[in-house]
Amino acid sequence: MKSLSTVSRRDFFTLATAGLSLANPSVLFAELRRELPSEARPSMNPDQALRDLLHGNLRFVKGQTLAPRRTPADFSRLAAAQHPEAVVVSCADSRVAPEILFDAGVGDIFVVRIAGNVIDGAGVVVKGSIEYAVAELNVPLIMVLGHSGCGAVKAAKHLIEDKGSLPGAINGLVELIEPAVIQSKGESGDALANAIKKNVEIGVARLKELEPILAPRARDGKLKIVGATYDLHTGTVDVV
Ligand SMILES: [Zn+2]
Repeated sequence: MKSLSTVSRRDFFTLATAGLSLANPSVLFAELRRELPSEARPSMNPDQALRDLLHGNLRFVKGQTLAPRRTPADFSRLAAAQHPEAVVVSCADSRVAPEILFDAGVGDIFVVRIAGNVIDGAGVVVKGSIEYAVAELNVPLIMVLGHSGCGAVKAAKHLIEDKGSLPGAINGLVELIEPAVIQSKGESGDALANAIKKNVEIGVARLKELEPILAPRARDGKLKIVGATYDLHTGTVDVV
């Protein structure tokens, strides 16, 4: 297990941004919990689940991965039932693999991957998948995960700027991201990074208001819905 004393100032800032503290004994709980097979682990509340993901990402960034629960015995143990701690809605980009970048095991994360991590306008397939995880599996956390240099967001930006079109169904998919480009226009800093962040924020807002399954649970505090971005260069996930 990784020593928590090796966590740097930047790591601390990352966790603090998410409202988390290393002084909190539940951080240690989350670290210890990761060692156990899923059916032996106590269920997590939303904050514990978020801490667990971010700690896994810190291990990934530092090259200190545990690669937990990936043996044949682990697969077999999970065959009867799954108890994932989080839904991660990430881009289909080959470089953004949630189980790897969160140093998670089989059965830990319910992953929904779609180009541009689009939620609003993506239809029943995406929303129904997320709702299933919450309603049937009692997952306490949803993370919408964008990433730096996202090709889908870049394409949406070009579509607006060049007024062109893309072949096949790609055009319709990319059009769903255009509101993020338009709404982030005029913000200071890098235009693509701003649009990527806005795209995540739009997805989070959509899920928070999604009746009848997600919105009431989010209001009651039983479900946390957060946005984050993954940096392709550093491997770091930052909650936005
Ligand atoms: Zn992408």
